[in-house]
Amino acid sequence: MNALTPLIDFVRRHPRLLVLTGAGCSTQAGIPDYRDADGAWKRSAPMRYQLFVADDVARRRYWARSMVGWRTMALASPTMAHHALARLAEAGHVRLLVTQNVDGLHDRAGSRGVIDLHGRIDTVCCLSCGQRSPRHLLQDELLQRNPSWAALDALTAPDGDADLEGLDFAQFDVPDCPACGGMLKPDVVFFGENVPRDRVADVRAALAESDAVLVAGSSLMVYSGFRFVEDAVALAKPVAAVNMGRTRADALLTLKLEHEVGAALQWLATALPPPAQAA
Ligand SMILES: [Zn+2]
Repeated sequence: MNALTPLIDFVRRHPRLLVLTGAGCSTQAGIPDYRDADGAWKRSAPMRYQLFVADDVARRRYWARSMVGWRTMALASPTMAHHALARLAEAGHVRLLVTQNVDGLHDRAGSRGVIDLHGRIDTVCCLSCGQRSPRHLLQDELLQRNPSWAALDALTAPDGDADLEGLDFAQFDVPDCPACGGMLKPDVVFFGENVPRDRVADVRAALAESDAVLVAGSSLMVYSGFRFVEDAVALAKPVAAVNMGRTRADALLTLKLEHEVGAALQWLATALPPPAQAA
């Protein structure tokens, strides 16, 4: 028996899955994971919302790091995990795909109707008028305003952030909203910020219509994702997880596979029937 056999049995028994993905799906794309196998921070903790809006230098520092890190985000391609989940959805196994990642790689792999729980790094929003715009347009403007910063190299984090230390961030020039002059923010949910209520409601509605939850490549350390596992358990819906290392939900899981997530999902997509044979 293959170590992954219990996973295919799980998916066969629960044909309508709510799939919840995390950073483990994108590490192969060159977007580093925030947490190690024990769920602890690998690097300094990411930007908090309250600091971003209240501290001018912290905000400039964020955008400087983001400008440098953007290259990695913009060049990242979908991984085996993203492609496999798109195939599983095509084969009718996925009621809803929810991701905690902000990289948009499920979309690029062809998955439709994805809920980006924590927003999208490829979009910028204005905190005053709410206007959204593509991040790459802001990138052009940041590079134009800050030519001496453009050549800096740095490590890149999952939110498109990068490590740049010992620089005078007060000098970094950040544009305001072209429509109203308001403060621009990446359209992602920062730590200290809530996931929009309608987004949570959409996931809960889909969960009610699902047979089970499959967690893929997430330690579930962030409550905004973990709560859906709690919800599933409250609704007596089983939860399976494929993740290297422990998850916050280990005690709640029906099935846990410590396996590289891309390989496991690809195996699953290959083992399950294609659309023509699906019931
Ligand atoms: Zn505005």
